[in-house]
Amino acid sequence: MDIKNYINGAFSPPVADRYIDNYNPSNGEIYGQIPNSDAQDVELAYKSAKNAFPSWSETTIDERSRILIKISELLEANLQRFAEAESKDNGKPISLAKTVDIPRAASNFRFFGNAITQFASESHESVGINAINYTLRQPIGVVGCISPWNLPLYLFTWKIAPAIAAGNCVVAKPSEVTPMTAYLLGEICNEAGLPKGVLNIVHGLGTSTGQAIVEHPNIKAISFTGGTQTGAHIARVAAPMFKKLSLELGGKNPNIIFADCDYDDMLATTVRSSFANQGQICLCGSRIFVEESIYEKFKTDFVAKVKALKVGHPSEKDTNIGALVSKQHLEKVIQYIEIAKQENGKILCGGDRVTVKKFEKGYYLQPTVIEVENDECRVNQEEIFGPVVTIMPFTSDDEVLEMANKVKYGLSATLWTNNLKRTMRMSNELQTGIVWVNTWMLRDLRTPFGGVKASGVGREGGFEALRFFTEAKNVCIKY
Ligand code: NDP
Repeated sequence: MDIKNYINGAFSPPVADRYIDNYNPSNGEIYGQIPNSDAQDVELAYKSAKNAFPSWSETTIDERSRILIKISELLEANLQRFAEAESKDNGKPISLAKTVDIPRAASNFRFFGNAITQFASESHESVGINAINYTLRQPIGVVGCISPWNLPLYLFTWKIAPAIAAGNCVVAKPSEVTPMTAYLLGEICNEAGLPKGVLNIVHGLGTSTGQAIVEHPNIKAISFTGGTQTGAHIARVAAPMFKKLSLELGGKNPNIIFADCDYDDMLATTVRSSFANQGQICLCGSRIFVEESIYEKFKTDFVAKVKALKVGHPSEKDTNIGALVSKQHLEKVIQYIEIAKQENGKILCGGDRVTVKKFEKGYYLQPTVIEVENDECRVNQEEIFGPVVTIMPFTSDDEVLEMANKVKYGLSATLWTNNLKRTMRMSNELQTGIVWVNTWMLRDLRTPFGGVKASGVGREGGFEALRFFTEAKNVCIKY
C-alpha cells in the first residue's frame, strides 16, 4: 500500500516525486512506498499550518475539545484496522497493537480534548500597590512533532493531541520505518471535521524531512521523541534559533528487585517489562539487579518463563514476541549480543535469530537474558532497545543505588520492595524522571513524563504538555 503526505486536509505526493520502500518486518518484504519528502514538502506543510493558525487559535475551547474527542472515537471505531496496520508496519504482535498502541492513541486525543477544558492560567494580585498580574497562555503558532518507530501512533498522537488542543497548528513526521498509522490518521482527522491545515503530516527520512522541520525558521517549537544522539543533533540545530524544545530520548532503565518483594507479581511483571514490544520500549527495564539472597531462585524462575515465551508471526494470537522493526535494527541488537560474549557475559537463554515457518525472511530474535560480571560492561551501559536484558546480583541498598545511577541515561526505574523506608530513600535518590514501585508502565496521563541526564529535556503529559505548547505572557495592570 502506497502512502502520501497529508497537507491542508488533502493527500498529496511529494513535490520531487521520490519514494522510499516500506518493509514488513514479519516477512522482510517490501509492501509499499512512502514519500521521500524534502524541504519543499515541509514548506508546503508549513504554509498550510500557518494559514490555518489564525482561525484554529481562535476556535473555542469547546469546539477544539469536541473535535479531539471525535478523533478519539473514530480511532476506537477503527481499532481493528489500525491495529492490523500498526502490527504489519512495526512487527509487533497484533494483540499488543489492539490492547495498547491504538487504545492509547485514542486516549491521547480524549485526554487532551478534556484537559484543555480544565487548563487555566494564574493571576497574582500585587497587594498594597494596586496592581494585578495575570498570565496568558497563548498557542505558539506552527510547531513540529517528530516521533520514533517503537510505539508509532501512540507516541505520534501523544505530541499532536496536546499541540492542537492548545491551539497550535502542526507539521509532523512519523518515523520513516513505521508511517502507516500516521497516514491513516489523516482520514480520521478529516472525518472528525478537523479544519484543513491544523495537522499536516510529511513522510520521509529523518535526515532530510525531519531536518527540514527542525531547521525551518518559522516552526517555533519542536517536540521530539527518539534516540539520544538524534536529540543532541536536533538541540544543536534548534538552539541558535531559540526554539522551544522538548526532547524525550533513550533509556537504560534499572529494574531493582529486593528479597522482600511480592515475588510472583514481580516475576510476571519483570517478564513484561523486559520483553514487551520485543523490548523496544524506552521504559523497558533492561538492567535487572536482584538482591543476592534470592538471586539464584530468580535466575532459574525468570529464565524458565522467558524460554516459554513464543516468538512468532505478529498476527498469531499466541505470539508473545513478534518481529524486530527492521533488518538494520535486528543486526544492531545481534551485535550487542556478540559484545556481551566478548565481555564475558553469560547468555542464560536466547541469543539467536528465530526462523518462523513461512516467514523465513522476517526479523525474529529469541528473548535473551545475559548474566553480566559487572555493571560497567557495555551491554549494561548502552541502550540496546531490543529483547535483551542483563541480570546481576547486589548485596546492599547503597551498592544497587550506585549501580542504578551509574549510566548516562535517566528515564525510568522500577523498584520491587515492601519496605517503606527503602522505597522512600530509593525513590528520592534514583536519578530518573519516573520511578515505578511494585509495578511497571502504569501510566496516568495527568502525570509528568520524561527523563533526566541523557534521557532528555522537558516533560510531556497532562498540563506539562499544554504548558510546553503555549507561551506564558504576563500582563500587569496598575489600577
Ligand atoms: P531516531 O532518533 O533514529 O528517530 C526518531 C525520529 O527522528 C524519527 O522520526 C527519525 O526519522 C527522526 N530523525 C532522525 N534524524 C533526524 C534529524 N536529523 N532531524 C530531525 N529528525 C530526525 O530514533 P528511533 O526512531 O530509532 O527510536 C528509537 C529511540 O527512541 C530509542 O533511543 C528510544 O529510547 C527512544 N525513545 C524514547 C522515548 C521517550 O519517551 N523517552 C519513547 C520511545 C522511544 P527516521 O525514522 O526517518 O530516521
